[in-house]
Order: sequence, then structure tokens, then C-alpha cells
Amino acid sequence: MMKLNIKDTFNKELPADPNKNNTPRKVFEACYSFVTPRIPSNPKMIHIAGEVAEVLDLERDTHSEEFLHTFSGKTVYPKTNPYAMCYGGHQFGHWAGQLGDGRAINLGEIRSNGQQWALQLKGAGATPYSRTADGFAVLRSSIREHLCSEAMHYLGVPTTRSLSLALTGDEVLRDMLYDGNQAYEKGAVVCRVAPSFVRFGNFQILAARKDHKNLKNLADYTIRNFHKDIQSEGKEKYIAFFQKIVNASLEMVLHWQRIGFVHGVMNTDNMSILGLTIDYGPYGWLEGYDPNWTPNTTDSRNHRYAYGNQPGITLWNLVQLANALYPLIEDAKPLEDILENYQKSFDLKYVEMMSKKIGLTEKNAEVEELIEDLEKNLQLTETDMTIFFRELPRIQKKNTAQEAFQKIHKSFYKPLELAGATTDAWNVWFTKYIELLQKEEDRDETRKFKMYEVNPKFVLRNYMAQLAINAADKGDYSVIEELYEVLKRPYNEQPEYEKWYAKRPEWARNKVGCSMLSCSS
Ligand code: AMP
Ligand code: MG
Repeated sequence: MMKLNIKDTFNKELPADPNKNNTPRKVFEACYSFVTPRIPSNPKMIHIAGEVAEVLDLERDTHSEEFLHTFSGKTVYPKTNPYAMCYGGHQFGHWAGQLGDGRAINLGEIRSNGQQWALQLKGAGATPYSRTADGFAVLRSSIREHLCSEAMHYLGVPTTRSLSLALTGDEVLRDMLYDGNQAYEKGAVVCRVAPSFVRFGNFQILAARKDHKNLKNLADYTIRNFHKDIQSEGKEKYIAFFQKIVNASLEMVLHWQRIGFVHGVMNTDNMSILGLTIDYGPYGWLEGYDPNWTPNTTDSRNHRYAYGNQPGITLWNLVQLANALYPLIEDAKPLEDILENYQKSFDLKYVEMMSKKIGLTEKNAEVEELIEDLEKNLQLTETDMTIFFRELPRIQKKNTAQEAFQKIHKSFYKPLELAGATTDAWNVWFTKYIELLQKEEDRDETRKFKMYEVNPKFVLRNYMAQLAINAADKGDYSVIEELYEVLKRPYNEQPEYEKWYAKRPEWARNKVGCSMLSCSS
């Protein structure tokens, strides 16, 4: 018997929608609606993240029928009351009103190893928040969510996790490119795991409806369960709460910038109140370093959620959250102060983070200038971000600028463009860089290993996920397994997986699923 140590809080401590029908509607004066997952016709488990199973104390159950049935939505675990959350959000800068868990169903919360975990199926059918959509998810996007959640965790980035990936046995109709070409795809369900799935939007919807009673309920709930160290009362309590959210969001986006991750849809309904990376849709990794790059075709005109905009968008989203929390505080000044401090704090931490990436410990204007020049140089010709920063540690104090340049040569996509002004700019940069390296105390070897700790060798490039998807479509899940394994140790050399340490192949440059993705999933 699979034993889950059920300890529900969200659906026990907060008000439920009294309507138990599963029909699309607006839900007022409630934080969620009870709903049962749709029974899949022929569920099949295709991947389980072993470590997540361990964290949840389920490692002995992963092969059981009960596990399959519980985490594909076929059966509801005894004494649980699954539910979908009510939230709103700003989508692409505009208030969208009520959104909610349109295709996520929370199974419940468990306590294991002293930690609280909410378990949530994504793709298990319609909920009262599905609006006109079907509540399902297709295999391709579920593979992307499952692998990336885990990859991000091992990269050291705060994220929701993914326990399992199952086929439902049902087909789902999708217009992948929004071009009128609908096709049936395999349906899948992922079981996501996080201490909480509460988003900025959960607060926003209550504030928008002036439901201040439940706004306070939800804030108190979140503080009581996830910020036990907040001891203050009254408005001070909510100010402290907001400060925590700002800090956590800042740390999260700083990590994204460090590893070149582009979320793609930073709407406020996709911002976790705990600062976890959440909702893996049309995300991507920078290959050529380009601050203006976004993988999301829906955003191809405005580039609102492009790599370089992510820290600023995080702030924009935090401003929306501050507006939502305002009724609990009724004093703009402390909120403004916190928001103002975000920018200063981010700038400081960004320089610190970039200094680590290039292995310099001095803090001064020279280093800052070097970082700025580096960002410019990386854009002179298409330069692979991951490979550049992973090769950089090989440069030694005794190297000449030319030798150093040779060492990072494999990060360039178009070596023929390496002439004239581009080479000159790199020469100037490396001359300065080596000069600063020579002032560092650490020996080359020591610095190299410190740099490796912040510059991953392996990230989940879109073409890699696409190869896993192509194979899985044919019933071959070995690529999923292989990527899962390699991405568990992204900072290690792992020579046996050298083939995944490579620039994006040319066939993937303009391919759907590789260089561009839509929200259709
Ligand atoms: P996303 O852009 O994926 O974060 O989704 C935005 C909103 O649309 C959320 O409220 C989702 O729950 C909802 N949504 C997305 N896809 C579906 C779907 N296939 N069925 C129902 N709701 C969906
Ligand atoms: Mg979402």
C-alpha cells in the first residue's frame, strides 16, 4: 500500500467555492473549487524523477499500480479533496481578470521528511477555471516541463519540481502554431511538486474584487505556513511578507540570468509567491548570447519577456503584487521603498554574480566595466553563452590575449565573422581580463573549479528537449532518461555525455520546438 502522509492546509484553512459542479464560471469569495481529475483511458508512466520520489518517501511505490493511478488522475487518494485554485493575472502587461488552474488539479498536500509538499497534476482535465480550453496537456510540453523542472533544481535554481510523467492514453487536439492546422497529439500528465503553488495572481484576483477579507486570509495563510519567522503584527507583518517575496523573486531571476534561462511567459499568474520558477511553457536557454531573445512566438513582436528584460519584468510584476497587497497595509511608502531597493540590490548582486562567472573577486569600477564590455562583445557575433562561460575558466594567468581567445573559440557559431573589429574587441577585452586575473590570489586551478560551480556545462537546450520529444513520440523514452541523468549533474564534466555539450546544431536553428515555441501546449 502506498502511504501518503496527507496534511492538507490550503483546502482546509481557506474558503472553498460552494459550487461543486465542474462548469466554467467566475468564482467569488473563495480561493479554490473542488474538482476531480478526469479519468485517463489508458495511463502509462513513462518517467519518474527518482529523487523527488525519495523526497516524498515514495521510492518504494513508484512501480505500483497505485502510484500510476494516483499520479495519472485515475483514482483519487483516500481522504483527499482535490481542487483547482482561483487566481487572476496580468498577461503581457494587461489585466486579464480571473484565470485560475485551468488544467492543474491539486491532489493535496503531504508532509514528508519534515517538509510540506503540495502535489499537483497538470493536464488532468477541465476545471471551473478552464474557460473554453480542455484542461489537457500534450506529451511534448509535458516532457519539457518534467525535464526542465528537474534540470533547474539541479542547476541550483528555486523551482517547482516534477515527480512523474505519464501518458493518459487519450488524444488531445492542438493547433501548435496557431495557424489553423489542428492535429491530434498524445495527452500526458505531469505531477508537479512544491511547498505551495500560490502565485502573485491568487492575491491579485482577491484585491481586484475588493474581497479584502479573503485577501487577508490568504496572506495570513501564506505567512503562517511558509514564513513562520515573521513575528510582527498588523501592517508590519504584510510589509515583512512583501519584502520576503521581493527577495525570493530577485534571487530567482538572478539565477535565470546566470544560466541564460528565459522563462518566456512572465505573466503575474506565472509568478510563484515563494519565488519558485513555475509554469514551464515556451521557455528556452540562450544559445547565442542575445539580451533581446525570446523563445516565445506569441511575444516575438514585443520581446516583453526577452532574456534581458527579465529582471525589469520581475520588478513590474512585484509592483502589481504591491498594489494587490496595499489594502492590507494602506501605506504606499514602505512598499515603494522596498521596490526602489530592488533595483539597487539587483544591480549589486548582478555584478557580484557576473564577477563569479568570470572568476574575479575584486569589486571595483574596472571589473564592472569589464563585465559591461563582455556583454557587448558576446553580441558581436553569435556566441554560445553556456560554452563561452564554461571554457573561460581554462584561461590561465600566463596566457596571452590571443591564446585566451583561442580557448573560447568553440563558443562561436560563425567563425568566419571573426575578423577585424570583432577580433580587435576581443583582444582588448582579454588583455584587460588577463591583467585582472594576474591580480587574483587564487591559482589558476583553484579559480577554475570555483568558476565551474557557477557556469554549468549542461543545460536543457530546446533542441535537446525536442530530440527527447521526437523519440518519445515513437515510444522511445531513452532520450528522456538520458537527458534526465546528464542534467542531474550540470556542473560536472561527465565526459561520457560530451555530445550534449555542444552548440545548437544548424538543423535546429529555425525549427519549431527548437528555436521557437508557442504557448499551445
Ligand atoms: P499559461 O499561459 O500556460 O500560464 O496559462 C494561462 C492560463 O490559461 C491559466 O489559467 C491556465 O490554467 C490556462 N490554460 C492554459 N492551457 C489550458 C488548457 N489546455 N486548458 C485549460 N486551461 C488552460
Ligand atoms: Mg500559467
